[in-house]
Amino acid sequence: MQDFPAPSLALAPPPAAATPPGEKPALAAVALGLLALLAAAADADAARAQLSLGIALALLSGGALAWAWLAFGRAEAGWHPHDLWRRASTSRGAVAWASGLALTGFYVVLYWFPWLLTNLIRALDPFSQSLRHRVADQWFLYGTFYTLAVLVLGGRALWKYRFSRYHLARTASVMFFQLGFSFLLPGLLLALQQPEYYFTYFWPLKYDYLFPGTVAQLLHGGGLGVFMVFWGVVMAFVATPVLTYFLGKRWYCAWVCGCGGLAETAGDAYRQLSDKSRQAWRWEVRLIYPILGLIVLLTALLWLGASGAVPALGVVTGPLGQFYGFMIGSVFSGVVGVGFYPLLGSRVWCRFGCPMAAYLGLLQKHFSRFRISTNGGQCISCGNCSNACEMGIDVKQYAQCGAPIVRAACVGCGLCATACPRGVLNLENGPRAGRLAGSAFIHADSLRIL
Ligand code: SF4
Ligand code: SF4
Repeated sequence: MQDFPAPSLALAPPPAAATPPGEKPALAAVALGLLALLAAAADADAARAQLSLGIALALLSGGALAWAWLAFGRAEAGWHPHDLWRRASTSRGAVAWASGLALTGFYVVLYWFPWLLTNLIRALDPFSQSLRHRVADQWFLYGTFYTLAVLVLGGRALWKYRFSRYHLARTASVMFFQLGFSFLLPGLLLALQQPEYYFTYFWPLKYDYLFPGTVAQLLHGGGLGVFMVFWGVVMAFVATPVLTYFLGKRWYCAWVCGCGGLAETAGDAYRQLSDKSRQAWRWEVRLIYPILGLIVLLTALLWLGASGAVPALGVVTGPLGQFYGFMIGSVFSGVVGVGFYPLLGSRVWCRFGCPMAAYLGLLQKHFSRFRISTNGGQCISCGNCSNACEMGIDVKQYAQCGAPIVRAACVGCGLCATACPRGVLNLENGPRAGRLAGSAFIHADSLRIL
């Protein structure tokens, strides 16, 4: 049974949550793993760096899994806030700031100073050679760390949400797609001298897949390349609208996408940090739709330039492409999107920057059957649902009014429904008729939200 502190009328803030003694050895293993990782990064001797890296990954994975089991696997099944707002690591305390700086620093080094990772990259060479038949580079290092994070912290999510078949299935799904389709298959394709292709990333998220240069290159590559172009077009323009019509954007954002996969596993401890204010929602709208517009414009201009209809378009498309690649592809999606997990929550990129989320969101809001229905009469205004929402949706406001939640941002993770002690919320894909109707117990005058 979870112990909650006794209610207090003290003006001073409550004391910080203490780490249970049983969890300390596991956390010490994680700390040792980080030290071994630094040792591997600093060691120019390839054999020693390999050994240090092996030890580091074993300690990090083993320590994190052991900690997750101690913290969640043994706890009573069900939703527990687990002192999230009292821990320095999950409530923007010193540990969160240190983690944010370390993560941001890693992305800065990865993108702009990769030579600092030379020893780590070389240490991964044997693995890269056996999987891809080519030397390791910084992106292979990144892919390996990323996949490991999704798998190990996916284990944490599986223990934490083991009482819910929905969460077990979607966690297993993101782990499967990350390992199979974003790591092993692209490596295998390279080993077979085929283009490195990610079948779970589509335009406009993987924007260059429908650029004329990439399309021409793939078409030139023979049968498999032609299939890749076909796959990219069908997924972007046919499968995405159809699946979103039936299921909402969750089929992609919470079940398939690698960015969503990291958010739902490594980022799960930070979901409560998403800003629920109206001001944040305004920024969301001001940023995400112009970014979608920008990539649509860039793609259209590139095709116009490639058709020869408008000569010298390269003067515009070159700088525009470079700006998009740097500001959106690198700074926003990586440095801010993941680096700021411990401070701004796990879905900063998905909420404010991802053009795929914007595209899916428009479909979800206007052409989908998906909604979260709310039985307003049962709501006790505890706020668990809003606290659990990683997309900054103030779910409680809807629930109190008995209004259905039809929001472009919602990724259908289902955590609001899981966190609700009264069973108020229900994720539904029913017929579109009546999708916007409120709860029968609440007067229509109350339904004025966004
Ligand atoms: S509203 Fe609920 S299902 Fe949608 S993103 Fe927020 S927590 Fe997830
Ligand atoms: S909908 Fe459920 S979780 Fe949200 S405020 Fe109401 S009772 Fe609490």
